[in-house]
Amino acid sequence: MCPFFYRTIDMQYDFFSPQQIHFGWGRFAEVGQLASSLGTRGLIISGSRSLEAKGVLEELQQFLSRANISSEFIHTITNEPEVTDVDQVTQLLRDAGIRAGDFLIGIGGGSGIDLAKACAAMVTNQESDTVLDYLEGVGRGLKLTQTPLPLLAIPTTAGTGSEATKNAVISSYSPAFKKSLRADQMIPNLVLCDPQLACSVPPEVTARTGMDAITQLLESYISCRAQPIPQALCLQGLKLALPAITEAVENGTSRTGRENMAHASLLSGIALANSGLGMAHGVAPALGIHCRIPHGLACAVMLPATLKTNLSVCQREYAEITRFIAPDLSLSEAEADQYLIDRIQSLNDRLKIPRRLSDLGVTPSQIPDLVASSRGNSMSGNPREISDTELTQILEDLL
Ligand code: NAD
Repeated sequence: MCPFFYRTIDMQYDFFSPQQIHFGWGRFAEVGQLASSLGTRGLIISGSRSLEAKGVLEELQQFLSRANISSEFIHTITNEPEVTDVDQVTQLLRDAGIRAGDFLIGIGGGSGIDLAKACAAMVTNQESDTVLDYLEGVGRGLKLTQTPLPLLAIPTTAGTGSEATKNAVISSYSPAFKKSLRADQMIPNLVLCDPQLACSVPPEVTARTGMDAITQLLESYISCRAQPIPQALCLQGLKLALPAITEAVENGTSRTGRENMAHASLLSGIALANSGLGMAHGVAPALGIHCRIPHGLACAVMLPATLKTNLSVCQREYAEITRFIAPDLSLSEAEADQYLIDRIQSLNDRLKIPRRLSDLGVTPSQIPDLVASSRGNSMSGNPREISDTELTQILEDLL
């Protein structure tokens, strides 16, 4: 039987995705022609010094210029974006004199694209000078009332799917929080995804960002807010990503590896924007702010425990996924569930993702803060409630 028909899910839904997605190996060269639908001046925010060093930003400006689009380089971010980054870069944009015909270009991994998404929103919403006041769960809870500046997103890592989501994740270390700026209008207007741009991502970063995409695909599929279109996308993404991630890590210039990971990452972003996530993405921001663990790595370490914790309510979903990704295996439902959990653990092992949080420097004294900081939008999508006591136990078991 086709796995799509196993599950009874709500057949009333809304679906959000970028208005235009242009995907393909080598299609970066089309950026000028594609961007001309957005405006006449592109303001560039980048998420990687390597891209700069390789001449990719210079090339971007040349491609734009050939399409009669002027461009201005604004900023490169080298960390996961913080409140001060958003506020400062928003000011740089205002200093550039925003005018009709301007649009933003976010090129980079999740950090660069999130910074561009947040600044696109903040530059047109001026009720407060700081993005803090607009973040979920902290600040003054202000809402975006003005449409953000048009945004072209060009992902260069394959992991977050931020090019297709409604939110930008913003950190602060004092006070410690990692929260989202979120609004339906924040989905980038245009996505240009050229998987070739990711060929320069080092193996370790390819592994951890790729595991973020895989975590998003699994968590969206089992989320308590799961929906039919995202579920179909998740299955395709997982089928492609599970073999492709090792290929991309072990052979960074592999076209198949990079293409399949970039596509899976994009699908994971569309899925999470519509269905939400779960426990792994609930805890990952806490690991980011309290223990400085990069986002993808935090997701990867938490994924096996998340699958085990949710097994009691997700047996049918795990079996559906297993039957789709490994159709030749004839397994009982219980065997199929275990297969999925074992496959993720062995993938993590092959990618050298540590099994224990202590291997990443987490200490027992940090657990209360980690638990307290795990209660965000992502945790609310987990398929079952997890109390603070249970989460404490889960984290202690992972130390
Ligand atoms: P990243 O953007 O921080 O990039 C990781 C590293 O890769 C950086 O050092 C960067 O300079 C480098 N890099 C990027 N592209 C490169 C290239 N082509 N060649 C060589 N090096 C390159 O990492 P990420 O995992 O893509 O993004 C993480 C951020 O995204 C976190 O803040 C996370 O919370 C956020 N996130 C956002 C969403 C969303 O929906 N908005 C979803 C998931 C995660």
